[in-house]
Amino acid sequence: MRYLILSDIHANLEALEAVLEAAPPATFDRLLVLGDLVGYGASPNEVIERLDQLHPDAIVRGNHDKVAAGLTDPDEFTELAAEAARWTQTALTPANRARLASLPRGPLLVDGALELCHGAPFDEDAYLVSRLDVLRAFQAARRPLCLFGHTHIAAVIGRVDDRLDVTLPEGQATVTVSLRETTRYLINPGSVGQPRDGDPRAAYAVLDTEQRTVTLYRVAYPVERAQQRILAAGLPARLAHRLALGR
Ligand code: ZN
Repeated sequence: MRYLILSDIHANLEALEAVLEAAPPATFDRLLVLGDLVGYGASPNEVIERLDQLHPDAIVRGNHDKVAAGLTDPDEFTELAAEAARWTQTALTPANRARLASLPRGPLLVDGALELCHGAPFDEDAYLVSRLDVLRAFQAARRPLCLFGHTHIAAVIGRVDDRLDVTLPEGQATVTVSLRETTRYLINPGSVGQPRDGDPRAAYAVLDTEQRTVTLYRVAYPVERAQQRILAAGLPARLAHRLALGR
């Protein structure tokens, strides 16, 4: 089974379209989405509707989806994120707002080998950045392969005894990691719509459970078009600028 894994699209339609062009339906069997469909970008309705056309096999909600749907308060965000969240709340159609509100909380078990969450398997809103939290995530994960997003940084982390074996893309357009049979993994595909590892290209991943590989991909997209949409929508200019920096 080949899974296309998308996370943190953040209402960036241009980035999503570039990913879907690079990974057309013939290249994967199932689609998994790790949350944060909206927030920051200027195309929340378009992104939700485009994803639904693809009939994803599983989606979990992200913290930005919860705020946009009115399930949590924007005041818990940084000022920049809160401003974008308030804009998103007013931009969403009632149907798309209801769609976001209906997204399930992670972790979600896909099958006997695979689960997905937005932040961490122990807390949907936690950021897996510290070694301690990563070890805690391995403890909490109920499947050997756990997909996560939220940090906007692509990574494949294997746990070999107490050692963490970390693969980062480091500027490469494709990185394939062979998954060992007896090792457990945490896999972050990176962010489609707002990468934060200094590489502005859209990030996604493909997991092939027969070949036992996961490939981290980067694809260029028309950043200027996404930036123009953000500025035209009256969203903070910083949200447009950061897209070009990948920060
Ligand atoms: Zn996010």
